[in-house]
Amino acid sequence: MRTRRRVLVVEDDLLNIELMVALLEGEGYEVLCTETPDAGLALAVREHPDLIVMDIQLRGISGLEVTRRLKANPATAAIPVVALTALAMKGDKASGLRAGCDAYLMKPIDRPVFLETLRRLLYGRPAASRPHLMEST
Ligand code: MN
Repeated sequence: MRTRRRVLVVEDDLLNIELMVALLEGEGYEVLCTETPDAGLALAVREHPDLIVMDIQLRGISGLEVTRRLKANPATAAIPVVALTALAMKGDKASGLRAGCDAYLMKPIDRPVFLETLRRLLYGRPAASRPHLMEST
């Protein structure tokens, strides 16, 4: 049984890939990457990652469509998907959630928010139990 959580990053921007890999590996995650939607779908089935970070703006089909297909496949439907988008358009988040994304975040990512989102989806840990996030009175 694997102890390190495995994260699949589907992202077509080289700088963002490098940033993601450094950030996630620094947190102890095992990271798989691909730049293409088709490879993302294939890797999700073959490697069964614990979580998928999905860029919405991909070449070919969009990350939303990739997410729809993942969620429509019983083999991958349970894998949480964190969508990342550079588009600040109204309705984007709603369409992301309709597509089945479990979280929807804007680029450039807010690192603490991004990492907390991953922990919540991977471990279901409530934010209030994390001391550094507790409010002072
Ligand atoms: Mn992109």
